[in-house]
Amino acid sequence: MRVLLGSGGIGTEERRLRYRDLISNHFRDSENVVFIPLATHDHERRTARLKESLGPMGARFHGLDLDCGVEQILAADGVYMGGGNSFLLNMDLHKYGLIDALRDVVKQGIPYLGVSAGSNVACPTMMTTNDMPIVMPPSYEALGIVPFQINPHYYPGKITFHSEGQRYDHFGESRRQRISEYHQHEAIPVLGLWEGSYVEWDGVRGRLIGRARAFFQDLEPVNFDDGAIFDGTLTLG
Ligand code: ASP
Repeated sequence: MRVLLGSGGIGTEERRLRYRDLISNHFRDSENVVFIPLATHDHERRTARLKESLGPMGARFHGLDLDCGVEQILAADGVYMGGGNSFLLNMDLHKYGLIDALRDVVKQGIPYLGVSAGSNVACPTMMTTNDMPIVMPPSYEALGIVPFQINPHYYPGKITFHSEGQRYDHFGESRRQRISEYHQHEAIPVLGLWEGSYVEWDGVRGRLIGRARAFFQDLEPVNFDDGAIFDGTLTLG
């Protein structure tokens, strides 16, 4: 399998360059990549923005046509699942019957790129998203093309923020607290993926590009450094 999952948060020029390099390498042999913009409301605008942001390479990316989504996915030689709201995305993946076709092509080795919400739905479920439940998907079950969960846009500790020249502490739950709430009910390990970071997954082993922290139901969390190699249980190896 050739899976690349990003956390989003590519707000600096350095991160944008890394993202473009990774995409062009990931889709080096692909001429017909289907771009799935279902995490957003305005599919056409989202697709146009993506194509524009990729420059000449954008010509090889085609927005999903919901009238023939399954056929388009089966005929594609690459899949790019864009970010946005994970509830909306997962609802539409189920509603338009795209889950099985996506799983099949990814298992056959078609390169899959997911960014943020697109990484959430690559997991067994979408239960470790940060998004608000703005719609009701029929199920939290997602594509399951990696065996662990991802929490994208992860950051350690608590937030401090600035407003009108003042610095404030924010006392809401940290990501660690939220992930430990998930682990009170579920045993699947969770990779907290820092912004600007990526996971490469070949079906057996993963490689981290950037920074991450792995969370487990009954073990202490473990920091993953750039280049870390791990298996489906998020055990370093
Ligand atoms: N809203 C995020 C994105 O797709 C997903 C998340 O934070 O869980 O950018």
